Amino acid sequence: MDYIERAMKRAQESNCATDTNFFQALKEVLISIRPLMEKHPEYKTQNIIERIIAPNRAIHFKIEWLDDNNNIHVNNGYRIQFNNALGPYKGGVRFHPSVNPDILKFLAFEQVFKNALTGLHIGGAKGGSDFDPKGKSDKEIMKFCQAFMTAFYNSIGADIDILGGDIGVGAREVGYLFGQYKQLTNSYDSIITSKPLPLGGSLGRTQATGYGLIYFTQTLLEDQGETLRGKICTISGSGNVAIHAIEKLYDLGAIPVTCSDSRGAIHDSNGIDLELLKKIKLERRASLEYYAIERKNATYTKKENYIGGSSAVWDIPCFAAFPCATQNELGDACAQKLIENDVKLVAEGANMPTTPEAIELFIKNGILFGPAKAANAGGVAVSVLEMSQNNSLHYLPFEVIDGRLQEIMSGIYTDMKDVCDEHDLGMDLVSAANIVGFQRVADAMIMQGV
Ligand code: NAP
Repeated sequence: MDYIERAMKRAQESNCATDTNFFQALKEVLISIRPLMEKHPEYKTQNIIERIIAPNRAIHFKIEWLDDNNNIHVNNGYRIQFNNALGPYKGGVRFHPSVNPDILKFLAFEQVFKNALTGLHIGGAKGGSDFDPKGKSDKEIMKFCQAFMTAFYNSIGADIDILGGDIGVGAREVGYLFGQYKQLTNSYDSIITSKPLPLGGSLGRTQATGYGLIYFTQTLLEDQGETLRGKICTISGSGNVAIHAIEKLYDLGAIPVTCSDSRGAIHDSNGIDLELLKKIKLERRASLEYYAIERKNATYTKKENYIGGSSAVWDIPCFAAFPCATQNELGDACAQKLIENDVKLVAEGANMPTTPEAIELFIKNGILFGPAKAANAGGVAVSVLEMSQNNSLHYLPFEVIDGRLQEIMSGIYTDMKDVCDEHDLGMDLVSAANIVGFQRVADAMIMQGV
């Protein structure tokens, strides 16, 4: 058994057997850094794997809150401060009933390497609660956000740990979380990003993850002598990432034809009506079935009617596919369907949306694959630009932020391509992303001593 296998075994023994998402992420990273470990024996001497795969701190707290009928509710709150070798902890907060320590540990672990890939000075963390925002009144959302912040505000700070949005945490929730922190500490510190503009948010942050995904894809395709112009694209999800990916695809002349939510999927062969989609998901917060009611040529497939383990989105022939909903949403049956339909590229907007089996199928079949760590790093990159604007009190126009985002996303691709060439990885961008991120964090840890 070699060093990597021993470290994996030790991780399995010292973590919960139920941490399946975390082990999936861990395994992917450790397998792909083998060429790096062979070139750098000092990483073994420094026992860097065991040190990098253990979170620095995991906080579990109780959140008590009152609903509109004065019933008392209790939810679990978590923050995994995984690694701060490169800078203060930074990562989003998720409110969703599926949130548990395993999911947050995997997200925080991924965040460490994603943040490192941006080349900016931030560590990695993730937090959230099993609170379900669906069906709650605005007042209940506010009370929950206030209770969440009250329960753990003393563990964060502008130089310690900076929160952000994620599933279930948009501008409204960020505003309430920020307001409560200010109230408790009497400070206007930048402890959360993705803030609404009047609270010190950055222009371009709302669009950054979706736009960044498409900028990354554009750079990758240009390198292969291809473009997105005129190409059919499929997208899953209909939240922040999906909507802005669709918007940027239109800007570049592509034709996005699908979107989905937790209840079903839309196929609109004329191209998704973006204004209608925004109205339904951002204003009315309603189900996508209304899209097909208002747009007669579109087809709506309920989740119960998906066939053979494949979401209706991935059955549609396309040039490029962008999973932008949630983890493990694109399995091997979906991958098989996409390959049969001659897909050329898959790039992840969501975190770990593609299962390891599906990734293997894409790589084996020569499909270009942009992993989440790299492809969806645009959001956190612009969050750092938000932090720097807050600190300097100098706010930048949209065009400047968007230009920086394009530079960062194409820089990420270039760094990965250099590593592919250095280690003879062909176009294995999964391994390249892990190697670039791992090396930056490992080197910073070694410089700081044990
Ligand atoms: P969001 O605005 O809350 O949207 C999530 C979307 O996914 C919603 O439309 C939701 O449907 C849909 N969804 C959830 N579960 C689904 C399922 N099983 N099948 C199909 N659709 C499903 O969240 P987001 O910010 O777009 O985040 C999406 C993904 O991107 C997450 O993995 C997140 O971690 C990742 N990400 C986000 C950012 C960012 O800046 N926002 C940055 C990096 C990574 P409903 O409307 O029915 O709930």
